[in-house]
Amino acid sequence: MTTPINRRVLFVDDTPTIHEDFRKILANDAAVSDLEADEAVLFGTAARTDSLQFEMASAFQGVEALDKVKASLLANTPYAMAFVDMRMPPGWDGVETVERLWQEDPRLQVVFCTAYSDYSWKEVLARLDVRDRLLILKKPFDGIEVYQLASALTTKWEMTEQAAFRMNSLEQAVEERTRELSNANIIVQNSPVILYRLRGEPTFPLIYISHNITKLGHDPKILLASPKWAETLIYPEDQAKVGEAMARVLVKDAQGASIEFRLCTGDGALRWVENRYVPVRDQEGRLIEVEGIIIDITERKAADEKITLLARTDGLTGLANRATFTERLAQSFAAAQRGARPFAILYLDLDKFKPVNDSFGHPVGDLLLQQVAQRLKSCTRVTDLVARLGGDEFAVLQGEISDPASAGALAAKIQTALGAPFLLDGNEVHISASIGVSSYVASSPGPDTMLVQADLALYRSKDEGRNQYHFHSHELDQEVLDRVRLAGEVVQAIDRREFELQYQPQVELASQNIVGMEALVRWNHPTRGRLAPGLFIPIAEKTGTIVALGHWVLDQACRQMSLWRGEGLKLPVIAVNLSLSQLKRSQELIRDVTETLARWGLVPSDLEFDVTEATLAQLTWAQNDVLPQLRQLGVKIAIDDFGSEYSSFDYVRAYRVNHLKIAQSFINRSTTDPECAATIRAIVNFAHDVGIGVIAQGVETKQQQDLLTSADATTQAQGFRFSKAVGADRAGDMLREGRIDRRGESFTDESTQVQVILAPAA
Ligand code: GH3
Ligand code: MG
Repeated sequence: MTTPINRRVLFVDDTPTIHEDFRKILANDAAVSDLEADEAVLFGTAARTDSLQFEMASAFQGVEALDKVKASLLANTPYAMAFVDMRMPPGWDGVETVERLWQEDPRLQVVFCTAYSDYSWKEVLARLDVRDRLLILKKPFDGIEVYQLASALTTKWEMTEQAAFRMNSLEQAVEERTRELSNANIIVQNSPVILYRLRGEPTFPLIYISHNITKLGHDPKILLASPKWAETLIYPEDQAKVGEAMARVLVKDAQGASIEFRLCTGDGALRWVENRYVPVRDQEGRLIEVEGIIIDITERKAADEKITLLARTDGLTGLANRATFTERLAQSFAAAQRGARPFAILYLDLDKFKPVNDSFGHPVGDLLLQQVAQRLKSCTRVTDLVARLGGDEFAVLQGEISDPASAGALAAKIQTALGAPFLLDGNEVHISASIGVSSYVASSPGPDTMLVQADLALYRSKDEGRNQYHFHSHELDQEVLDRVRLAGEVVQAIDRREFELQYQPQVELASQNIVGMEALVRWNHPTRGRLAPGLFIPIAEKTGTIVALGHWVLDQACRQMSLWRGEGLKLPVIAVNLSLSQLKRSQELIRDVTETLARWGLVPSDLEFDVTEATLAQLTWAQNDVLPQLRQLGVKIAIDDFGSEYSSFDYVRAYRVNHLKIAQSFINRSTTDPECAATIRAIVNFAHDVGIGVIAQGVETKQQQDLLTSADATTQAQGFRFSKAVGADRAGDMLREGRIDRRGESFTDESTQVQVILAPAA
């Protein structure tokens, strides 16, 4: 919509008849109809069908004119022009009037009307100093001249207004754009991202590069002028790679891409950068330009490399870690299958490393592991891979062997190397290693199995006295298969209800009263018959299914305890074995214990956990708080198999345990080995002094019983002398009787079955 042209005209003259004349002229169209065409040509207005409609106002003195102009401005209906008489006594003359009017409204166009003036026109113009809004009309007037002036000047007023408006908007737009650009420029300058444009020709001339390339020590002007800008910026080794990638955008329809390269800075350093670029094409798909950004990724790259390295190496020794080892093993295996030279795995575990930690401290233990790593490296070739698999376990992947004997040779070399004493922090330390070897043969089932085979061979070395190596053999192989199969079956066995708990009573020697029952798990295997835990617990421990099994055992034992309690049977405590994996998941265990006790309406002191010495030795410091937490809860703790290996009283003190369970091997020897009997007495006395109960495990004979009774009659015992582990019903009968009286009887046992416990093999 166009606004109507402002045709407001003010007459300023002291002679009323002049006003009459003006009004007549401007109201009368007949006199001017022949002017219309001229105006249309001159000002581009549409040809009129009507005469112009002027709005006319009169003022007879300058002051009155000023009032009218002020009022018009207030009403937002300014006058487009005024006809002003030059002489208007007694008030202001024309010049002063115009000066005042312009002070109010500088846009007002003025026509001076005069026959003569008190000033020369030159003076007037010099004084008013505005020529483009001032016209002079000499009396006597010609009607057409007046009409034409009014018509032209009102139109000009409108056009000037519109032009000013456009100008104003334009200025605002320019200002805004300038601000935007300068903001964008600041962002570009401060950002680590460098922008560039290349012309879309095979040589890719650089046509723009953002100024912040100066931060990398380059002058953008020099780069823009240089046809060799790419050679200046890109590290020589990376030029071919970048060149190839860039050349691909020359192909029609090729998309943008990203490539990393090393950028040479102005001062000769290298920075890793990522170069992302996109082709700009015309409608036909022809390449016009390439636009891109360069991002400095040096720090990110360094961090990535560090992370990769950390993920692949063992922090303590700097050797490859288990992940790297298994990866390389898989590669070697695949290569051997394709016909590459066979290889062997040597699986090592230091012998009696734990005592080194215990005697010299953990930091010395760490030093030993580091030096062992060094010696292993010095025994091997660059093509071999030495790894630390964890703890005191190492592995060597011996590459390209001609016959398995060379693996044996390496094992012997390693054993000799480790045999020399270590000087650690001023201490001379001796160590040996047990090694298991598995070498690749065409029938090798797979890399993982090879590692298990080596592990098994290692255990044979341990079993047969340590400090030796064994090859994985056919029987070992059979064992492997069994283990793998069993491991798979353990999980399903829980659901299939193939596990069963048996209970072995614990009696107080003095009274023969039953003071506890130890829950022991059996597996009624569908094809192999009843399996002792020694056959499947180590497997379950290795494969992690021990956690689910442990949960089941705890639940069943508590359930049974609750049933017995419900029958009114008296049973102070039920003992359950805990595995290392369960202890390692301390929070899960605590939650499980709390929930299970609540589920069966038991209190924490109804439950005793048996933890073997070997398990305790493997708990790291971080996992050490689980036993105190269980104690806090009120659950009882017994150290199982005490004396079998470590006989460390540290644990007794550290964990404020409730019972020591003396290992069966000790009890066995007690009647033939006086030293052993003395040790048992010492343990019993010590325990008595610190207020800890003692349970003798595996008591089989009257002599053993008598020996223990003589040491301290408050000692408790379990074993075939009293009862083997029995089913829940039998155990219930025993509880009903309350005691097992074997005081006078001599013992003959129908079974040689020994007590086996729910704990990893030490
Ligand atoms: P064995 O002859 O049967 O191998 O007995 P061992 O004493 O060597 O014991 P084992 O191999 O079963 O356990 C290794 C021990 O190494 C367990 C743990 O206390 C200790 N250990 C594990 N990791 C580290 C470690 O990073 N530093 C130190 N100093 N000791 C560790
Ligand atoms: Mg060891």
